Amino acid sequence: MKYNITIGWLYPELMSTYGDRGNILVLQKRAQWRGIEVKILPISFTTPLSSINKIDLLFGGGAQDKEQEILISDLRDKKGTTIKNLIEKNIPSLFVCGSPQLMGNFYEPAVGKRIKGLGIFNVDTIHPENENHRLIGNIIGKIQIPELKNELVVGFENHGGRSYLKDSTLPFAKVIKGFGNNGHDKTEGMIYKNAIGCYFHGPLLPKNPKIADFLLKKALEVKYNKKITLDELDDFLESKAQKAIANKLGTAL
Ligand code: GLN
Repeated sequence: MKYNITIGWLYPELMSTYGDRGNILVLQKRAQWRGIEVKILPISFTTPLSSINKIDLLFGGGAQDKEQEILISDLRDKKGTTIKNLIEKNIPSLFVCGSPQLMGNFYEPAVGKRIKGLGIFNVDTIHPENENHRLIGNIIGKIQIPELKNELVVGFENHGGRSYLKDSTLPFAKVIKGFGNNGHDKTEGMIYKNAIGCYFHGPLLPKNPKIADFLLKKALEVKYNKKITLDELDDFLESKAQKAIANKLGTAL
């Protein structure tokens, strides 16, 4: 059977910091190498909701405060309900840095007004004026998603916002080295259903291909409503890249 998926990409022109676009390339390539057809849907202010409804996998990258301000009313007020419905239907999603801040309850920048988010993640993000240094550097953590439990994830973070998980919201990873959500509680990112939020730039997926495969597998399982086993790929170079970052941080793999 020939599979196909549509990957939605939120505001590529406004949200693609530190090579986040690489995540789209990895998802596309790893699908194509297995004979899965891929359509990329860049989502802009004019994209109709009927197209967004057909997405099988959703990606959102990072953005600076200014871009977040520019796009939030379109994201929240025009597309919010449709995106929430996708996540509720278990559509797998990856949101990096600026986008999980907007998928949470709110983001309060160090300068400017609080931005109300979509409330998909029960997470509050604040960049306090009196703690305004940015959290920057390489980061390594242990994934907490049950399917990838305790697998290592490596990347690079650069954010001013400090995110705090509310109630029983689960982190995407536990920090081994780096700052993570807020520099204090060792949590990194968040998960809700098959949606992942995180602060890993770099981009994330080229050196963490298991996460790419997790997203692809879920996309196919939700779309075709059956168990999917993805063909194995040779990840020699990808794991070498992961080891290089881990070694830099003094965490031998
Ligand atoms: N505006 C956010 C912050 O600095 C997001 C930055 C980013 O996406 N890299 O916290």
